[in-house]
Amino acid sequence: MQTKLKTLFVLIIITLTLSLAANAQAESDKFIVVLDAGHGGEEPGKVANSGIKEKDITLKIILEVGKELEKNNNIKVVYTRKADVFVDLFKRGKIANNANADLFVSVHCNAHNSQASGSETYVLGLHRNKTNFEVAKAENSVIFLEENYEENYGGIDPNSPESFVGLTIMQEEYLDQSILLAKNIQDNFTNKLKRKNRGVKQAGFIVLHQTVMPSVLVESGFITNKNEGKYLNSKKGQTEIASAISKAILKYKKTIDISFNNETVFNETDKVDEIVIPSEERNIPNTIFKVQIAAGPKKLAPKSYNFKGLKEVFREKESKLYKYFFGYTSDINKIQQMQKEAKKKGFKSAFIVAYRDGERISLEKALNSTSK
Ligand SMILES: [Zn+2]
Repeated sequence: MQTKLKTLFVLIIITLTLSLAANAQAESDKFIVVLDAGHGGEEPGKVANSGIKEKDITLKIILEVGKELEKNNNIKVVYTRKADVFVDLFKRGKIANNANADLFVSVHCNAHNSQASGSETYVLGLHRNKTNFEVAKAENSVIFLEENYEENYGGIDPNSPESFVGLTIMQEEYLDQSILLAKNIQDNFTNKLKRKNRGVKQAGFIVLHQTVMPSVLVESGFITNKNEGKYLNSKKGQTEIASAISKAILKYKKTIDISFNNETVFNETDKVDEIVIPSEERNIPNTIFKVQIAAGPKKLAPKSYNFKGLKEVFREKESKLYKYFFGYTSDINKIQQMQKEAKKKGFKSAFIVAYRDGERISLEKALNSTSK
């Protein structure tokens, strides 16, 4: 009985471990979007004379965006807040970084003492004019309400974006992708909703500075404008804006997926899929093998979350094309293993390339001429 129980117990543990592993695998394959509703709790953001508060509008829009995105099985949504609570800016970034997210989307509302209207979407960068600077400064002022902000932001001065934007090496890597998403969002606002387009802009938003993934901040509209304020505060307005944002995210995902799976950019003669190597030819000096997993016009950070979890991916530029490689070794057996690994992760067209003394050579040549 004792032994039987033990066996049963071990079996249960094995089954649990296996199913947990399978789950973890499925989860890690998902495209992770972090949705950030600006402000919250004791910090209302902008407040219009009509009484409309930014924190309420941003939360309603974000929850709608999330509802739409969650209809897609291959997308996981993470929220920085789902209720009317205060969340420090640096914690919002931490939530996104810990989730190993593919995208960070922050939603806010604008305000002005004129009847200004329209929407604009920001990526992190140095502001090109005073208006953009003022928008960032207003959003950044949130951190004055946080305890120990000097400590948590490593000397960032919220009133001087120059003090930290120069240090944004990480966001620099994601600039192209951030702009791509920002443009999708603005296009949908303009073309689908016929809203005034204030454009894709750059400014020093602290919340964008905290994340290490493509990130945008949407100023969805002016709560201080009479008509736009009403629209933003209506169920119709919130649903439409949310739908425009979620569709823009889906379109972004599609573009990124295509640039990975686009085989037409490859020269077919370069492609050697299944190779059989005689064992005596397996030790090749001066020759380096790599697995090419993707190529395309998009400059992506060679991070594992951009490449379905593959680690040690590196990028090279060839004319107008970025090529992404996995593995770097003179061992043909090892590179074949790595090709298998890449294919298993979903890079179905992953193929081995060979170099001798830095020059690209055909795989056949690499394998034939060196059986010394
Ligand atoms: Zn705001």
